[in-house]
Amino acid sequence: MAPQTLDKISVTSLHGVGPQLASKLKKLGLYSVQDLLFHLPLRYIDRTQVTPIGGIQPMSDVVIEGEIRASDVVFGRRRSLVCRIQDSTGVVTLRFFHFNRAQQERLKPGTRLRCFGEVRRGKSGVELYHPEYQYLDSANPAQLEETLTPIYPATEGITQTRIRDLCAQALKQLQEYQIAELLPNEVKTELGHELSYSLDNALRLLHNPPPGTALHLLSEGEHPAQQRLAAEELIAHNLSLLRLRQKVQQQQAPVLMRDKTAQDKFLQQLPFTLTAAQLRVVDEINQDISTAIPMLRLVQGDVGSGKTVVAAMAAVQAIANGKQAVLMAPTEILAEQHRINFDQWLRPLGIRVAFLTGKVKGKAREMQLEAMVDGSAQMVIGTHALFQEAVSFHDLGLSIIDEQHRFGVHQRLALRNKGFNPDNPVAMGPAPHQLIMTATPIPRTLAMSAYADLDCSVIDELPPGRTPVETVVLNNLRRNDVIDRVRASCTVGRQAYWVCTLIEESDVLEAQAAEVTASELQLMLPELSIGLVHGRLKPREKLEVMNAFKSGDINLLVATTVIEVGVDVPNASLMIIENAERLGLSQLHQLRGRVGRGSQSSHCVLLYSAPISNNGSARLKIMRETTDGFKIAEKDLEIRGPGEVLGTRQTGDMQLHIADLQRDAHMLPQVKRAAEKLLLNHQQKVDPLIARWLGHAEQYAQA
Ligand code: ADP
Ligand code: MG
Repeated sequence: MAPQTLDKISVTSLHGVGPQLASKLKKLGLYSVQDLLFHLPLRYIDRTQVTPIGGIQPMSDVVIEGEIRASDVVFGRRRSLVCRIQDSTGVVTLRFFHFNRAQQERLKPGTRLRCFGEVRRGKSGVELYHPEYQYLDSANPAQLEETLTPIYPATEGITQTRIRDLCAQALKQLQEYQIAELLPNEVKTELGHELSYSLDNALRLLHNPPPGTALHLLSEGEHPAQQRLAAEELIAHNLSLLRLRQKVQQQQAPVLMRDKTAQDKFLQQLPFTLTAAQLRVVDEINQDISTAIPMLRLVQGDVGSGKTVVAAMAAVQAIANGKQAVLMAPTEILAEQHRINFDQWLRPLGIRVAFLTGKVKGKAREMQLEAMVDGSAQMVIGTHALFQEAVSFHDLGLSIIDEQHRFGVHQRLALRNKGFNPDNPVAMGPAPHQLIMTATPIPRTLAMSAYADLDCSVIDELPPGRTPVETVVLNNLRRNDVIDRVRASCTVGRQAYWVCTLIEESDVLEAQAAEVTASELQLMLPELSIGLVHGRLKPREKLEVMNAFKSGDINLLVATTVIEVGVDVPNASLMIIENAERLGLSQLHQLRGRVGRGSQSSHCVLLYSAPISNNGSARLKIMRETTDGFKIAEKDLEIRGPGEVLGTRQTGDMQLHIADLQRDAHMLPQVKRAAEKLLLNHQQKVDPLIARWLGHAEQYAQA
């Protein structure tokens, strides 16, 4: 008989687990005994020795022993039970906010206790809030712990003691039953020494670290036992994305052959020639889409590197093959700008462009939808309105998503699914090729794990004749100097942006702030024509302002961060950003990317108000020192960590339990190779690995 494995044994087989507890455990994602084994401690405390009360330090975990001298219910903002406990070296307060009458009665003067808890500074000096405790009596001397004590992630209604007991039971079962080792030796070799730990031993150590285990390594997550599990977890995540890729690539995509005549015709009417980097990426895309395997490609390129025209080249190829192409942008302004560009570029080739955003309504909307369905519009441009049910295509061959960082992985998948259904490929026809463009350069290591399902191209060159934007950082007290500078620049025919920012996520407040700033600037700069654009304007109003700015009728554009992505007005060469200290690096970089697009030298003024945080000033310093988006992204990662850099939506998909993308970045290249090996040679391990680490929700492949 095959040995039973722990993933098949329910938690209800453990002592003391009835339906009620089982349902609480479910909330923690714990169904099987194996799940419990992978429910690892958040941290550890040392309960192997008693600390004299006189010697306890705030902010530490301690074990103390003593006798209760006083016990009172105190009424304050919150009712609490306060006990004073004493040993030969001193007195300390225990404070309980939740207590019942029985507890209150037993915790009376004269009782001897051993308590475990975290020492804090409270109202009466040092206090232990809600310590765990046990009663001491000479007949029954309680043993001290022999190993470090784990603290587990818990949920309401399950105490640490309970979870510890369950995990101890699970560990016992580990001696009798098996836990599947899912990493074959070939894969372990790929990972090197980190994986020399066997899975059993790693789990045993982490639930029950023997005395002398390096606590500092454990607390940093750098113990080899943790690293071994972290590697496995990262492999599982990688696999889930590769699986997704595999699923997609089993579909048939239309073969889009290179049509040199159409592409040449397109290139000839451009006012510039493509850079070597653009041509290289165009080639990579051409290769991908001329096969029946759906393309899944990410194009990274710094702001202003010219991604749009690369996307247009791909669209031309799709359309020349009789298919439709769709481009989705994250904002109305950007979508509108793409529409203008594509219209201008594609009309000479006889291509009709449809446009769909949330704001296109009524008859106009119907017409656009119809042109998409009957195929008379070969090129479709829009915002996330394109996700909507009512939207369908005649024969979609290519979908392009611009500024990916604004969208989560799920949205990306949803658009992909517009062309087909991954679970039922026949039902919806061929899968479109997919191109994703991002202006937020993602550090290579991060890209490797967050976008393991995508191939990657980089446009690593800016069009010629661009001079890097010069950046200065100024205290807001020097605002008047800055206003003089705007006047000087605009009166010689240049244009400028003045960006108003607020930290509150409020369109209304931000719009108000921008209005106030605009009228204030108009008073001080009566000779200039000043425009105002913010998120509260109607799309048509927004457009009118943007067009007036583009045509030069407006000298100075006061704006909120709605202009963050994509806006392209090459004659604008000066940008002022207010409260720059509050913005993140990638946002600052995006905003600054609006200038430096023409041939004249450009400037960016970052205004700040003192006092300013350490991180804030670190960010401004980086902005002053470099305009290289990749360098900025690396720094961003250092300051904010991967969760923030990728955006919550993306990391929401990544939910790592043990691994930490930043700490474990060094192993990502090996992880990638290991995942590829597994997929190639050990198919049968793949699903169990994904299930073990990404859980029962099976959400990983869902769009
Ligand atoms: P991004 O990569 O930030 O999306 P865009 O595609 O908006 O950049 O291009 C920025 C500007 O550079 C646009 O005005 C575009 O027309 C122009 N551009 C693109 N490629 C070239 C090139 N090879 N030479 C000169 N200008 C270019
Ligand atoms: Mg762009």
